[in-house]
Amino acid sequence: TVRVRIAPSPTGNLHIGTARTAVFNWLFARHHGGKFILRIEDTDLERSRPEYTDNILEGLRWLGLNWDEGPFFQSQRLDFYKEAVQKLLDQGLAYRCYTTSEELETLREAQKARGEAPRYDNRHRNLTPEQRAAFEAEGRSSVIRFKIEDGREIVWNDLVRGKMSWRGSDLGGDMVIARASEEGSGQPLYNFVVVVDDIDMQITHVIRGEDHIANTAKQILLYEAMGAKIPEFAHTPLILNMEGRKLSKRDGVTSISDFQQMGFTAEGLVNYMTLLGWSPPDSTQEIFTLEEAAKEFGFERVNKAGAKFDWDKLDWLNSQYIHKTPVDKLTDLLIPYWQAAGYKFDGGRVDAERLLVRDRAWLEQLVTLISQSLTRLVDAVPQSQLFFTDTVEFSDEGSTQLKQEGSTAVLEGIVTALENQPQLSEAAAQEIIKQVVKEQKVKKGLVMRSLRAALTGDVHGPDLIQSWLLLNQIGLDKSRLSRAIT
Ligand code: GLU
Repeated sequence: TVRVRIAPSPTGNLHIGTARTAVFNWLFARHHGGKFILRIEDTDLERSRPEYTDNILEGLRWLGLNWDEGPFFQSQRLDFYKEAVQKLLDQGLAYRCYTTSEELETLREAQKARGEAPRYDNRHRNLTPEQRAAFEAEGRSSVIRFKIEDGREIVWNDLVRGKMSWRGSDLGGDMVIARASEEGSGQPLYNFVVVVDDIDMQITHVIRGEDHIANTAKQILLYEAMGAKIPEFAHTPLILNMEGRKLSKRDGVTSISDFQQMGFTAEGLVNYMTLLGWSPPDSTQEIFTLEEAAKEFGFERVNKAGAKFDWDKLDWLNSQYIHKTPVDKLTDLLIPYWQAAGYKFDGGRVDAERLLVRDRAWLEQLVTLISQSLTRLVDAVPQSQLFFTDTVEFSDEGSTQLKQEGSTAVLEGIVTALENQPQLSEAAAQEIIKQVVKEQKVKKGLVMRSLRAALTGDVHGPDLIQSWLLLNQIGLDKSRLSRAIT
């Protein structure tokens, strides 16, 4: 059975690139009825933080990328790795290297002067026991290096990129698999622990970003040395910005929690990530759930070229999901954004600025009113502002409208009609407008525009009658109309 894994390092929040790799792993596992495993690569003790682990787990859960096994933590498996290092030492496939950092620096300088790529020259590969004892007597610390034969050819059939071929001489000399440390075989390093874990966890397909291609070449040698079956590899394309460079912090966001704060829905974002480098057989289909994508997913349809990050497309997809979310669920999704903007919510009730208390039914009516014009969830904050505050801000067009001939008389007519209307219904609102048109012999357009300007401060906006009803329910319409008259 297929077993794949995602192996994030908790040295930062869940990155969009890692999340996209997780999406492809998840889709592949689900497509084959296999297992998706989560492993936290926290061997870098200085840079790993528990809050990043929390952010990663929350982000994966939020996106709906449920895992079947784990999370496993590499920091809890150190003894296991040390045993594996020892085994390679015992077999003569790895050795202690006492070269100091100064010596390595001198070597690099000399190579640079000759125009050569930096590489370790394997100088301690065949130390005699006496030489080793002498270095130790000097008090030198050691790292563990794994032997890489220069003449070795390393070939694999990448599921995305086809035949890949490397030479041992491309890999920088014998590789360090464990760092120096006080006790025993030291602190095992990334390329080594990944292989030990992938073997132990019986990973059948390693799916990760193309920035790991050189690591794959090294790791294949480690699989061989440990006598294990070599998994399949699939290297996914990088995510690029619109200028074609690797997407980075400078492009505004890099982590899933950033996207969440910016108002993207989990469904919209995960749908978009699915399309970052993959396309379904019916390429006109752009909106689908993870489950639907999993039915079709395979590496034949993953591109080699980098995937450009297209904000417009993400926005469009996101709006599609918002527009079809049922109102009660959408209301729940929006509340955190209002909270972040400073509004207080208490159960079903809303305490906004000036303690204007709204209830859930009112809030859902508001959400219905604005939902179709939201692209990002966070758009609800500016779009609903006029319903949460007592003061209206007037646009230029809004104030001009109120100065139009007949505007004041129209508003006075509406205020008078409202006097015998404690609770406005839609029919009553329509009736008031009709009545004012008739009495004052004006065009309906003037009534509507004046009413909108008085209630909202602007001449554009959501459905006017619905907006009026909402304001009427919280007693804000009469005061706004009166203020617009004076
Ligand atoms: N910890 C590595 C990373 O975050 C994992 C790479 C791999 O999948 O092997 O890039």
